[in-house]
Amino acid sequence: MGDLQNDVVIVTGASRGLGRAMVERASDEGARVVLTARDEERMDEVATDLPGESLVAPADVRDAAAVERVVDRTIEEFGRVDTLVNNAGVSLLGMYDGRTSLEEISEDDWDTVLEVNLKGVFLFTRAVLPHMYEQEQGNVINISSGLGRHAIAGAGPYVSSKWGLEGLTQTIALEGEDRGVNANALDPGGRVDTDIWAHLPDEEREEILDPDVMNDAAVLLAAQGPDGVSGESMPAEEWEQRLG
Ligand code: NAP
Repeated sequence: MGDLQNDVVIVTGASRGLGRAMVERASDEGARVVLTARDEERMDEVATDLPGESLVAPADVRDAAAVERVVDRTIEEFGRVDTLVNNAGVSLLGMYDGRTSLEEISEDDWDTVLEVNLKGVFLFTRAVLPHMYEQEQGNVINISSGLGRHAIAGAGPYVSSKWGLEGLTQTIALEGEDRGVNANALDPGGRVDTDIWAHLPDEEREEILDPDVMNDAAVLLAAQGPDGVSGESMPAEEWEQRLG
């Protein structure tokens, strides 16, 4: 029996990278999983190999109606939603093969990063909260970054989006406090070998973390009951020490 037996877990950005790793692990732990991202074909491939029940529900996290449909389909299929992992995210690194300073960033690129990384989290969280409040139980896990706690030059939109996400996490925690909902931020604790770093040379990609780095911490967070730790943010390893 896994730790998440029969729980319903939605993972955004489940088509690849860290999201794919977390959805596979949640399924191994006995959860019924909902995979969402834009690339339906890739999610179908991931879902085929999962040991348990799953639902592939494509959506762009920036599209409120599409996000609502994912949650509606989840409720129709599984009747509840225990955990939402807000993992979908973009960085300009992939778009420009490196860092970009503010004077070079277009308004469109700013909007894309903020809308995917921050507005998308708002839209998905808004859609699941009524169900979690009704159940008087739920976990919202927001995938942040070390750049949610400090800044670097050349990643302005990403840094801003993740700092915003940290604040939003605390708001969700405060509003959910007496209604059984925990909200926390989780980050890998360093660079992870996913498509975000596709522009790096192979030797460098081999040195960075593997995409399963947050799996243990995500399971511990998802397994928390209504009175769990809430409103906190830390890297995977620290969560493992705190909750393990
Ligand atoms: P990735 O491999 O590029 O995966 C990003 C995921 O987000 C994909 O599944 C993608 O799916 C989805 N996505 C992107 N735009 C979307 C949109 N508009 N609507 C719906 N889904 C969208 O990146 P990753 O490294 O796994 O990143 C996952 C999370 O970890 C992000 O929040 C990132 O900021 C965070 N993080 C990553 C690192 C790292 O070093 N890799 C470090 C710290 C934090 P589709 O393209 O199919 O839509």
